Amino acid sequence: MKYAFFKGKIVPFADAKISVMTHAFNYGTGVFEGIRGYWNKEKSQMFLVKLAEHYERLFRSARVLHIDIKYSIDELCKMTVDLVNKNGYKEDVYVRPIAYKSQEKIGLGLIGIEDDLCIYLAPFGNYLDISKGIKVCTSTWRRIDDLAIPARAKVTGLYVNSSLAKAEAIQNGCAEAIMLSGDGHVLEGSGENIFIVRDGKVFTPPVHENILEGITRKALIEMIQDELKVVVVERSIDRSELYIADEIFFCGTGAQVSPVSEVDHRKVGNGKVGKITKKIQEVYFKAARGDDPAYQDWLTPVY
Ligand code: PMP
Repeated sequence: MKYAFFKGKIVPFADAKISVMTHAFNYGTGVFEGIRGYWNKEKSQMFLVKLAEHYERLFRSARVLHIDIKYSIDELCKMTVDLVNKNGYKEDVYVRPIAYKSQEKIGLGLIGIEDDLCIYLAPFGNYLDISKGIKVCTSTWRRIDDLAIPARAKVTGLYVNSSLAKAEAIQNGCAEAIMLSGDGHVLEGSGENIFIVRDGKVFTPPVHENILEGITRKALIEMIQDELKVVVVERSIDRSELYIADEIFFCGTGAQVSPVSEVDHRKVGNGKVGKITKKIQEVYFKAARGDDPAYQDWLTPVY
């Protein structure tokens, strides 16, 4: 956290500060991304994963909140590479761009309120335990509906919903929550998409059920079908299917591919990381860390 992009230029991280009156700070009117940079020691290279895809989603989120991003996707990619380069880390990092209502203004609304964009990064290892599987619980907090705050837009204020679920999970001795819709469908974790395996097939909730349209989710759907030759079906998932699934895993930029070993005090399969999950972890990490030439187009080298 040495330098950030703030108010149009790269500044020392300590100088990237907003006012207490900033609209986004008061009302949650920002949209953001989380982008991984993997440090590949053998290649002495930092690879940013799916950089343009993240900025494409940032633009889609910004449209929902009437936020005007003054840079093109190409410019944002270049600015990010420059910033990561200037920070000079030789370990995995997490890059956080935020486009936000930057005006110092009391009063609701989105139109006619000034926007800005900042980018910062921090060293970031494994967010969840990806080796032996985590214990999770279904949350009593419901995922918010598209007609309340659209979940497909990565809106800062929406993450109150995810934080309530995560806090409840931690207080109940779990590492992560599974969030359900008002009508009881399994949707996602508090910050990751979910897949279940039943009878050799992989299932994941469809994008029109109030989930974030995850970049890792999309990549894995293709990867599972192409590399593992396993069918992936996008369909609604019942809560009780969690209890009889052979395997469950989360995926996301932060979560990577994260096996679930226990849901609501019930073991998933035999409680160990399942075969399909393990294979997906292998192919995913090889691609994301820059060790599989077939997936070079996922990656933007920094150094
Ligand atoms: N769902 C939610 C609610 C998230 O915050 C994230 C993380 N961005 C994801 C899913 C996973 O999305 P991605 O693979 O694009 O990181």
